[in-house]
Amino acid sequence: MFSCRIEIGVLGSCTRTLGDNMTFNDLGLCPELLEAIATLGFETPTPVQAEVIPVILQSDQDVVALAQTGTGKTAAFGLPILERLDHSRAVPQALVLCPTRELCMQITRDLQSYASRLPSVRVLAVYGGADIKPQLSALARGVQVVVATPGRMLDVLRRKSVDFSEVARIILDEADEMLNMGFEEDLEAILSTVPDNAQTLLFSATMPGSVAKISRKYMKDPVEVTLGARNAGSENVSHEYYMVHAKDRYHALRRIVDVYPRMYGIVFCRTRIETQQVAEYLSMDGYSAEPLHGDLSQQQRDSVMRRFRERHLQILVATDVAARGLDVNDLTHVINYNLPDEANSYTHRSGRTGRAGKEGISVSIVHLREQFKIKRLEQMLRKEFRRRPIPTGDEISRVRLMNLAQQVLDYDIDSSPVDKHLDELCTLLAELPKEELIKRFVSIELDHVLEFYRNAPDINADVSFGSQNRYARRESADGQQRNDANRMAELVMNVGSVNGLTPPKLMNLVNAADRQSRIAIGRIYIVKSQANFEVPRDQAQGLIDAFNRGTVDLHGRRVRVGTPGQVHA
Ligand code: AMP
Repeated sequence: MFSCRIEIGVLGSCTRTLGDNMTFNDLGLCPELLEAIATLGFETPTPVQAEVIPVILQSDQDVVALAQTGTGKTAAFGLPILERLDHSRAVPQALVLCPTRELCMQITRDLQSYASRLPSVRVLAVYGGADIKPQLSALARGVQVVVATPGRMLDVLRRKSVDFSEVARIILDEADEMLNMGFEEDLEAILSTVPDNAQTLLFSATMPGSVAKISRKYMKDPVEVTLGARNAGSENVSHEYYMVHAKDRYHALRRIVDVYPRMYGIVFCRTRIETQQVAEYLSMDGYSAEPLHGDLSQQQRDSVMRRFRERHLQILVATDVAARGLDVNDLTHVINYNLPDEANSYTHRSGRTGRAGKEGISVSIVHLREQFKIKRLEQMLRKEFRRRPIPTGDEISRVRLMNLAQQVLDYDIDSSPVDKHLDELCTLLAELPKEELIKRFVSIELDHVLEFYRNAPDINADVSFGSQNRYARRESADGQQRNDANRMAELVMNVGSVNGLTPPKLMNLVNAADRQSRIAIGRIYIVKSQANFEVPRDQAQGLIDAFNRGTVDLHGRRVRVGTPGQVHA
């Protein structure tokens, strides 16, 4: 049982402080550590740091802290364990266990930066998926702190290449994740090699029964620090959901991404295949997106994560497991392409945004039958999930135009290579009225988006919710679906993205084939070697005939159109 419980009403965020004007000096850390964290720009302790640091500095009592990544928990255990080392002896005195290689490297980097003014302190990362020999030699040379993933640690212990008999502190970081990943036996085996009286510090974002069991078994009268409600997500995250029919999931994702042009986020999928497909569709549709899943080699994963961290990638499409090691602070969005089965996974996913004091949005795309899952999450997190209408084509076009206008306003140019050609440019464009000039410039920039959404249908599952026109609003959901389904027919074109097809080009091809009629094209879906698109049912056959009669081509390839199954790439 827990002997003492500290509840902090405010959830951890790096910019919030617990007490009035509390500083790191008040916590009793040594000057070398204070200097190092000042260099890192840490000014005030986060709530978890304010609670945990004094306990570790002043006692050997065990600690259970319910804290997510982003709350400053690494420094909460890292600073005091570094302070309490016997710096003169290069034997392992603290052991940090964590679930993934990436987290292991991240914690090691953090601890090394905190110890930058303590030259005799050695912190070593011991993780799988890398050559064990350099790790063994570093251990043999002597270290005070080992940060390890459980599998590799056990391997090293079995080789008798490390001695933990002087370990005074053991930290289980992201304990819930380690147990989720099936490390329970490995953990028990490792824990049996450290002295019984070692101080144990357990950090976990959630407290499922399995974690409580470990804490009961291996910890004595721990102080429990709870940051906010148990199993709750970060205070800085707002939760939203969009309701669609399952077949429109991808279209909904696209619209959400389009309506937030400055999004920097992770799209979570349930399976590797889905991750791969969604990322492929997104990048074929012109977004900067890549998949992250377990079928990639470690090298590929590292490279994707690096590019994402450096913001060369806007969207990462990931499975829960693959995203675990990723440490990025300023995500604007987490998108649940599918809701996870486990509520805890939702907490982990949404906790990847709203970190380090920033605001974040956790978006879920759900279909009608999943509404009960939203209710369950609301109860569990004690948070309201706001239902939002899927943006209409018009709304997206407006947002994109205004965003572009804002970018123009914000763009800072003192002198530019344009200057010396400016007179010539002005003369050339002089005959265009201002409105026409604006229209043409924004169209050049945003043509693909504006054309794509020109006739885009409403895809809200219940169209009475946020639908595009008053007439549709009076219709029942089923009525509107039937209406759309009856009105539009799906056609297939035998060229796709590998042939350079884009939505505007598809529209041009349709116009080139049939110059007489004005065809209102509905949804367009372009994959590598073909494209599916919707046209009004009563114009479908005419268009097929027009393509058959004519000789429309795309970069030298004859373009054909037919009903699904009739036309092949
Ligand atoms: P963590 O929860 O340990 O992953 O930390 C999240 C982020 O907050 C990391 O980038 C830390 O460098 C940063 N951080 C931790 N503590 C503080 C602090 N007291 N003030 C400002 N930033 C901090």
